[in-house]
Amino acid sequence: MSIKSNLQQVRSSLKSDVQLVAVSKYHPVSSALEAYEAGQRVFGESREQELRIKYEQLPKDIQWHFIGHMQTNKVKYIAPYIAMIEAVDSLKLMKEIEKQAAKHDRTIDILLELHLAQEETKSGMLPEECLQLLEDGEWRAMPHVRIRGIMMMASNTDDRERIKSEFLRAKELFDTIKERYFMDDESFDVRSYGMSNDYLLAQECGSNHVRVGSRIFSE
Ligand SMILES: *Cc1c(COP(=O)(O)O)cnc(C)c1O
Repeated sequence: MSIKSNLQQVRSSLKSDVQLVAVSKYHPVSSALEAYEAGQRVFGESREQELRIKYEQLPKDIQWHFIGHMQTNKVKYIAPYIAMIEAVDSLKLMKEIEKQAAKHDRTIDILLELHLAQEETKSGMLPEECLQLLEDGEWRAMPHVRIRGIMMMASNTDDRERIKSEFLRAKELFDTIKERYFMDDESFDVRSYGMSNDYLLAQECGSNHVRVGSRIFSE
């Protein structure tokens, strides 16, 4: 199967209001270009250096999403061009994004990464940590950071019921956060969960932003 046909197949299975992020990490520039030529414009990468190479070589109308764990000291490299930083898991990181975005006179979209999986290894904030961060309110004084929604990764398991319950929990937390802090803010509208193996289940559970890599670019 070609990248183009994989992409068409994934797209045709998504509802029209679901954003597809093509995760090109570990795949060459030529593969990302193939997806671009098939019409894809939103791409996800998880390493700063790899992202930089792709950013430099690929067309400039691509929207790049940083989907991996973001180290504070790397924010300055991506701040000039990144469209969205998806895995924001601390106030410290938010402050650095604010500082770097301000330098470039930009507003950077971010997602709050939630830790809902029953695994030690997964990153992100526990629900109570995330709610506390919002309650503390420092983010309100960050005009160059726009909180667009939440992001999470489900447990790495074959147990569909468990994955489903984590997705539903993510949807529930999104609704809570929306109601408490962003009721009048239309731009708080992103629920980023679902990857190659579970994006259809994620969509059923309220995701409107799926990050799909191997299903498009092959294993
Ligand atoms: C790699 C990665 C993906 C894509 O995973 P696939 O299983 O290849 O679709 C999605 N989200 C994050 C955060 C990733 O690191």
